[in-house]
Amino acid sequence: MADLRDTFSPVAERYRRIERIAAGGTVLFFLSIALASTLGHMPTFFAMTAIAGWLTVVSALFVAPRLICPGCQKPVDRPEGEWCPCCGERSLSKQTLWRKRTCFSCHRRFSNRRKSRIRGIRYCTHCSSYLDEKGI
Ligand SMILES: [Zn+2]
Ligand SMILES: [Zn+2]
Repeated sequence: MADLRDTFSPVAERYRRIERIAAGGTVLFFLSIALASTLGHMPTFFAMTAIAGWLTVVSALFVAPRLICPGCQKPVDRPEGEWCPCCGERSLSKQTLWRKRTCFSCHRRFSNRRKSRIRGIRYCTHCSSYLDEKGI
């Protein structure tokens, strides 16, 4: 079986890069707003940098690759499967509507909401394939 890390790592690398760019855009946006509010008005320059920051974030969301497991073609950024995406152990608690899933092995808790993405994904939660060394 081919090493899935070879397939997934370039995607993870690209995702991390885009995530950094988006973070930069967010900082630029809020910095411009903060500086403008301390001045009491919005100079054109700050309005431009705020818009530039916002556009950076939006376009980053569009170009960010979807995190799909090359082994089973399922999304890996939500803890839906049996395996812990961080330590690769089959030790996740049952999913309920109210409670977060917990890993008994590495004691991480996973929210199943879409917005809060899991940090440090190294394994596929569906098929336990080893995807990325650094963790995404
Ligand atoms: Zn998989
Ligand atoms: Zn774990």
